[in-house]
Amino acid sequence: MTKQELKQRVYEAIDRRGDAIVGIGERIRSHPELGFKEMKTAAMVTETLRGLGLAPRNGLALTGVRADVAGGQGPGPTFALLGELDALVVAGHPLADAETGAAHACGHNAQVAGLLGAAMGLMDAGVPQHLTGRVVFFAVPAEEYGDIAWRVEQARAGKLEFLGGKPELLRLGHFDDVDLAMMIHTTPRAEDGKAGVPTSNNGCVVKTVRYVGRAAHAGGAPHMGVNALYAAQIGLAAINAIRETFRDEDTIRVHPIITHGGSQVNVIPADVRIETYVRGRSVEAILDANVKVDRALRAGALALGAKVEIETLPGYLPMTCDPTMAGMFKENAVVMLGAENFGQVGHRTGSTDMGDLSHVMPVLHPYMGGARGTGHAADFEIVDTSLAYIAPAKALAAMVIDLLADGARGAREVLATARPPMTREKYLGFQRGLARREVYEG
Ligand SMILES: [Zn+2]
Ligand SMILES: [Zn+2]
Repeated sequence: MTKQELKQRVYEAIDRRGDAIVGIGERIRSHPELGFKEMKTAAMVTETLRGLGLAPRNGLALTGVRADVAGGQGPGPTFALLGELDALVVAGHPLADAETGAAHACGHNAQVAGLLGAAMGLMDAGVPQHLTGRVVFFAVPAEEYGDIAWRVEQARAGKLEFLGGKPELLRLGHFDDVDLAMMIHTTPRAEDGKAGVPTSNNGCVVKTVRYVGRAAHAGGAPHMGVNALYAAQIGLAAINAIRETFRDEDTIRVHPIITHGGSQVNVIPADVRIETYVRGRSVEAILDANVKVDRALRAGALALGAKVEIETLPGYLPMTCDPTMAGMFKENAVVMLGAENFGQVGHRTGSTDMGDLSHVMPVLHPYMGGARGTGHAADFEIVDTSLAYIAPAKALAAMVIDLLADGARGAREVLATARPPMTREKYLGFQRGLARREVYEG
């Protein structure tokens, strides 16, 4: 059977499962869960994969779920399809979880629907018997790097080392036998087209900062205190002052938040906490900006005679999409959606832990539409369930056929030219080397 015939069979199978796939996407959308806590979503993934006759393993990096299918044409490369399980806290989102504030304002619910839809289509159409190598359906936790205090606690308790899902899965060896990987991210941006591939994404380091001052009666004896909030304020002002030193081409993003600003209003704040990322297009640019940010943060402590504790955590590495895989995706997307609906996305200034995977294997991270509003904002919503849930299922399944049918010629072609910059060991060593903690007494 030709690749084209296989794709046709899969597309029809996915269409027959259309209601179920949309149902999955919508169910997850209204039950958002934060990273590493996606218990209900993971249980639903496990159950769905079992229903397809697969034997998923779960609890990987706390909540990840992975099911493997061997091709019937003998051993060969292993290609993983990924879907991210997590939501994030967005104030005021209409579908936010009442308890946690979590909302699917990044559209990861669509990723899981697409992943499971691809699995349904491939299994229903009997595609695996035509494949060489292995397909992995992998629902992965915690792409959104938030809820940091809780994650740091889990790390202290030995339950995590890295605080993002894919780095942690890499550490645990769950990608050791994977040769190539792909996921599709939803986009609400009309200018991305209905489908498009970015050339690259920013990477980042993550920082937690704590200013320690001295509490005192805010009315009776403020002169006895050291105001940690004012120290933090000067630190933030200093960060804003260094922005003009960032080069446009490095696409630096520094966006701090105060997570704790004082104990109560009649006490001079003695403990103020900040979180931030330092993002950039290259590792060198991130590290250069990071040095400046640390210096700016110290300035606040110096001005007030406070202390600042700066913890730098490994974040995500910049991402590069594999051009051969991008070409295959584009061909399928153009057939499915029309050439006029395919967008060239260019460099994106958000970060993703697909960047980490892209350092050790060829990956593809296209965007597909179906959403409206602003990513990570209260107005983000899925408006076209066919484009958001069904089309990615087809595009993922088509890539499986392109890469692993015909003796896995496609995958071998990708692997022959891809030059990921790091080995897995080097990656882990590099990320560990970024972690540092500094205490500065102003
Ligand atoms: Zn996001
Ligand atoms: Zn996302």
